[in-house]
Amino acid sequence: MSYVIAAPSTVTLPVEGETATFPVRRIYCVGRNYADHAREMGHDPDREPPFFFQKPTDAIVLSGATLPFPVGTKDLHHEIELVVAIGTGGKNISVDNALMHVYGYGVGLDMTRRDLQGEAKKMGRPWEMGKGFDQSAPCTALKTVAKVGHPAAGAIWLKVNGEVKQKGDLNQHIWNTQETISYLSHLVELFPGDIIMMGTPAGVGPCVPGDTLLGHVDGFDDLTVTYAK
Ligand code: MN
Repeated sequence: MSYVIAAPSTVTLPVEGETATFPVRRIYCVGRNYADHAREMGHDPDREPPFFFQKPTDAIVLSGATLPFPVGTKDLHHEIELVVAIGTGGKNISVDNALMHVYGYGVGLDMTRRDLQGEAKKMGRPWEMGKGFDQSAPCTALKTVAKVGHPAAGAIWLKVNGEVKQKGDLNQHIWNTQETISYLSHLVELFPGDIIMMGTPAGVGPCVPGDTLLGHVDGFDDLTVTYAK
């Protein structure tokens, strides 16, 4: 196959214990999947159906990176999240079968230009530029299901410059992993390589140039990102 311009390279995530990497196809994110975060954003968390948005695949950067501070924002927020990596695709997947479609899990940050998102909400516009900007999806290496199982409980927290800002537990997801996969697969066909960012606990807040973020989910290596001064 030849292309008229250079073809983009495949975005990948490392997999712990493997030399081969996980090719990322698409990034889906669940909105408001923790009641305390839904409340802090001014919403009633009473189990409204899950909703989704996407980030561009090449928004992924690997843990450990020092990143330029994002353009176009004066209110960059951190959202620490569990990442679900889909290994086999499908549509209309049942809740009972959903976990069989998972390849592994990781830890990610759904970085958010909150000012742009807020403006979009107010004007009834898409969230895209608040959520889907360059380098907005820092991620750790994945761990296979064989290594980490299907984490349904465990601490999830985020520190900024050593100070705890977000704190929750995976068992507080309003829609758990299998329900989320099932719901999403009734809206779009899922494919191997898709990843899902599972939503963030309360405590989201601003980062400024020079900040170091350290994200943790029990059972995983910590995720760290620094914003250049
Ligand atoms: Mn999020």
